[in-house]
Amino acid sequence: MSSSGHGYSLKRRISSTYIGVYVGISVLMVLSIIIGCAFYADDKYEEPSVYISDSVAEKLSESGTIVVDEFRSFLHESSLYGGAREIFLYNTNNELLIATTYTRDNDDYFAASGNNLLLKLFPQFVYITDGILVKESVKNVESESLSYDVRIIMHFSIDDELSIFTYLINMSLALLVVGLVLFVLFGVSKTHHMLAPINEMTETVKMINAENMNQRIENTDAKFELSELAGTINSMMDRLQSSYDRQKRFVSDVSHELRTPISVISGYANMLKRWGKDDPDILKEGIDNIIEEAETMNELVQTLLFLARHDNETLKFEPADTDVSDLVAEIVKDTAMANPDVNIVSQIDAPLVSCLDGARFKQAVRVFVDNAIKYSRDGDKQIHVSLTKFPEHYEVSVSDNGIGISEEDLQKIFDRFYRADESRTKNSGGFGLGLSIAKVIVLAHGGKIKVRSKPGVGSEFTVIMPYAEAYASAE
Ligand code: ADP
Repeated sequence: MSSSGHGYSLKRRISSTYIGVYVGISVLMVLSIIIGCAFYADDKYEEPSVYISDSVAEKLSESGTIVVDEFRSFLHESSLYGGAREIFLYNTNNELLIATTYTRDNDDYFAASGNNLLLKLFPQFVYITDGILVKESVKNVESESLSYDVRIIMHFSIDDELSIFTYLINMSLALLVVGLVLFVLFGVSKTHHMLAPINEMTETVKMINAENMNQRIENTDAKFELSELAGTINSMMDRLQSSYDRQKRFVSDVSHELRTPISVISGYANMLKRWGKDDPDILKEGIDNIIEEAETMNELVQTLLFLARHDNETLKFEPADTDVSDLVAEIVKDTAMANPDVNIVSQIDAPLVSCLDGARFKQAVRVFVDNAIKYSRDGDKQIHVSLTKFPEHYEVSVSDNGIGISEEDLQKIFDRFYRADESRTKNSGGFGLGLSIAKVIVLAHGGKIKVRSKPGVGSEFTVIMPYAEAYASAE
């Protein structure tokens, strides 16, 4: 069950990522509310603080000396004007000169700000927890004989603002929590829904095996990339299945092809065992047939070996500059010699030298020529072989006036063991492997094969070959 476990963990991961992002955004929102409120309050008391510090400096300049009681009542007055709760007046040595009230421990601000970096940097934020906004300003006092600086510290009460801010923050926190619950419910079920097809796919793919290769993923629920994935897996399965089917057919074809000569050989061997010792005619017939069947088998096994090497990519070619004109002329000559009943005409462009494996290429062209003879009517076998030069390529073409190939068969004649008309072609002795071999050789040389055929009229096989370049990649 480990695979379904992984599925769930993916869901969990996606959901927790969603939720993490949501929580992150919520925290940012709350922070921005807090910072916004702090700036709002700071801004709100800027003007009163300027007003208070200006009037204090003015008063000091006017009076010259400080009469404590009088000045304190002045401070009270201006603090009432500006809305400040307390005002402290310090000299530049941080000594308290006078304050509106002594109820607080008056040196706390400077004592604290002298040592506490946080308080120094963000006094507003630290005091805000007590409902106090601190404003500070340094003013120069010019009296008749003296000129000195005073520091004016003002405490404004922000209880009202704080209660609104607290309300705001509580409100938004509550909403964010409700949102989180909805988000978890919705997000988790959505993720679950979106990823459900993965489990279905896993189950389907698990069921696929060699005996059950036609199983496919029904991707009705899968969307977007998942439906593409399902499609890709299905098309991969199509390809695997068709190659598996081909392999299966190939193995059964091979055993079928081998069974016939083996049973013929064993039949003749039995015949020899019974009567061969006494009857010289039977002895000769038996031995001849056994040799013939053994040769057929050998030929088939060699052909299969060739194809197997190609499939294993161990097939070796030996390319060399080859006189293709000579090569084709030789095939024509040999064919004419071996088949006196065939009217073979050739048209060969010469000279034509190309880099290829001469022996293999000859083998391929021979397949076309042999087929042209095999699949033409006895007594009227007309075969035309040509070699034509083009600037970028050359073509070897073999045409006949034979039985032709139907359109349906044209798609399949290059398949291994395919014979268009079993009953007719069986007699001609082919295994249905000739064109497969020709195709392997031509493709390995970077060439192509073109077929034109009409049943009852004839066929034309044309090999289109590059002069040399493609060889390297074909090896
Ligand atoms: P085979 O050994 O049967 O000739 P091939 O692979 O060479 O096998 O050819 C496959 C099938 O293609 C043949 O069985 C035949 O039906 C068809 N075929 C090939 N060449 C010709 C041709 N020139 N004319 C008609 N049919 C052909």
